[in-house]
Amino acid sequence: MSKLNAKTALAVQDIYRPIFSGYFAIVAAYYIFMSVSHFWYFEGAELLVMGGVAVLAAITSLTSFIQLRNPMEATQVERRQLAVNLLMIANVVVALNLGFEPQKMTYFIIMVMIFALASVNFRQSLFSIVVASIALMTFAGRLEKAAFDGYVFLVIAAAMASLSITYFLRKSIIRIANARLDAIDQLEEVKVVSETLRERSLSDSLTALPNRRAFFERLRELKAQAAQDPIQNDAVWLVLIDLDGFKSVNDIHGHLVGDLLLQAVSGRLNSTKIEGAHVSRMGGDEFNVIVSGGQSQDDIAQWCNDLLKKLAEPYSIEGRSVRISGSIGCKQIDLELDMRSQINQADFALMTAKGQGKNRAVMFNREHAKQAEERYAIEEALRSANLAAEIELVFQPQVDLERGVIVRAEALARWSSPQIGTIQPGKFIQIAEDSGLIGGITLMVVEKAFAELQSWEKPIPISINLSSHDLISDMIIDAIIDQSTALKIDPAMVEFEVTETAMMTDFEKATKNLDRLAGAGFAIALDDFGTGYSNFNYLRTLPIGKLKVDRSFMDNPGDPMTEKVLFSLAGMARTLGVHCLLEGIEDEVDLLMAKRVGADAVQGYLFGAPMTSADLHDAVIGFSGSQAEGQKAAG
Ligand code: C2E
Ligand code: MG
Ligand code: MG
Repeated sequence: MSKLNAKTALAVQDIYRPIFSGYFAIVAAYYIFMSVSHFWYFEGAELLVMGGVAVLAAITSLTSFIQLRNPMEATQVERRQLAVNLLMIANVVVALNLGFEPQKMTYFIIMVMIFALASVNFRQSLFSIVVASIALMTFAGRLEKAAFDGYVFLVIAAAMASLSITYFLRKSIIRIANARLDAIDQLEEVKVVSETLRERSLSDSLTALPNRRAFFERLRELKAQAAQDPIQNDAVWLVLIDLDGFKSVNDIHGHLVGDLLLQAVSGRLNSTKIEGAHVSRMGGDEFNVIVSGGQSQDDIAQWCNDLLKKLAEPYSIEGRSVRISGSIGCKQIDLELDMRSQINQADFALMTAKGQGKNRAVMFNREHAKQAEERYAIEEALRSANLAAEIELVFQPQVDLERGVIVRAEALARWSSPQIGTIQPGKFIQIAEDSGLIGGITLMVVEKAFAELQSWEKPIPISINLSSHDLISDMIIDAIIDQSTALKIDPAMVEFEVTETAMMTDFEKATKNLDRLAGAGFAIALDDFGTGYSNFNYLRTLPIGKLKVDRSFMDNPGDPMTEKVLFSLAGMARTLGVHCLLEGIEDEVDLLMAKRVGADAVQGYLFGAPMTSADLHDAVIGFSGSQAEGQKAAG
């Protein structure tokens, strides 16, 4: 039989173990019994020899049985078993020598069978069987020839059968051992594969940082630790980082540079680590850090500022120098409370940091808690709102300065929630934009505005505001164009207002959609002009017909600098061939300035606050009447 490798030999031994220990146990029991019974049958020298061999066999097998409970080397088992086998043979040999009884020779045959079944290996089995057979034949020599022949045949048959049994038994045991080893190997392999998969599922492929799943897993771990040891509960901080203007980097330098930048940012986040920090990438340009080193609020604030400085240092990527900054929202978290709401709170701090001008860290505080609560209540109400019933439109007139007539009305949304009451548009529009709910509102406003337009006997051109989300959503732009076609709306009567900030979210996409709206015949106005990027270059390429200068310019109307700026804005509009409208005209002083700087049109409380559609019509009539009277008086 071929030599087994160490692993298989061990597995074989393991399978044999119950057989060996059963063998040693039975032999031990038998010889203990024999040792005792010899006292009855023998005396003197006979007792000494018979008892001696029996006791020796009992002790050897008993100690082997006990030792076998611990792992024993194969050769050691083999030696033990050989010793027990030989002692068994010796026992019969001594007994037959003391008193020859031919029938006792059958013991040798039984032994041959037992050795075969319980042998540790073929070699050992062969040796024991040969010794037993020789012993039998030696004693058989004392018998007559016929009886001798009979025993010889018997022992040869028994030996052949036994050796075959040993051979085949061992062969199947080796097969079982190998199958078992294969199974173990496979199990190992499965373990390794599943571990690799697990690791991969927990790490971000671009930056190799732990990913979103790993972030939540880490939180779960900390939660479990805190539950086990509430006293050791150190302060845990949640730090949310979002890059400022990452989208522009992608747009300007391409996605490859964007990816490399994210890797470089990850590197800096890792190298600016604080004790107990678990940095993960949540996706896009968002990174979260869980800090569980028991730091104080001051430590965290200091670390956040260091981090912001580090992030803002220029990056050298593909031979270009790229700059980016980050905004941070922090919150100390209580591991026993609901995680979702605490993450939302850290997110609120992050949004506050963005709102305060970016590249800063904001720690979630009590004031934020109040604001956040209100915000989430509004968001919830908005989510379940019946927009058709709850959204109403008001209209604010726009007046042409040269002709002195209302030339258009801006449709503005008003929302009154049955749960919360009336909510300022500045507030709910922002929340709807942040929570991805703006699309529904926009489509409702468009639907209602179109319905008004259709119902008016003397239609007044209207303008409708679009948010950044609307502008980059093909679906919403499709819906607007489809609806106007279905209702046979004259697109010349409708203008859409977009802001520069909205354009910047995804300039390419926004431009495409603006072109589609303009292509369908709608007019486009650039709202809140002067508060955003004011990049005059792209104005040329966009289908814009009007600049609506933000009302913040009217905050100090007497200021010569403001007037100068407005003057050049109006001049630039003229150069570009677009209209210039000044917003926020509240009194005569504002109006005079608007005229001086050369604006084409104005909008503001002086001519009317946002009003119902009926009031708008009254205003149109009243306005043209008063203008006519004014002109008559002047003439
Ligand atoms: P906006 O598009 O710049 O609208 C003009 C805002 O200025 C309106 O505020 C209007 O009431 C206010 N306003 C007009 N004249 C004066 C004035 O003389 N003095 C002052 N202090 N304010 C004046 P409102 O209605 O509160 O809307 C605020 C913003 O909410 C709007 O700014 C617009 O960005 C957004 N919004 C309103 N309705 C919608 C809508 O249906 N869709 C979208 N996407 N945004 C809307
Ligand atoms: Mg507007
Ligand atoms: Mg505006």
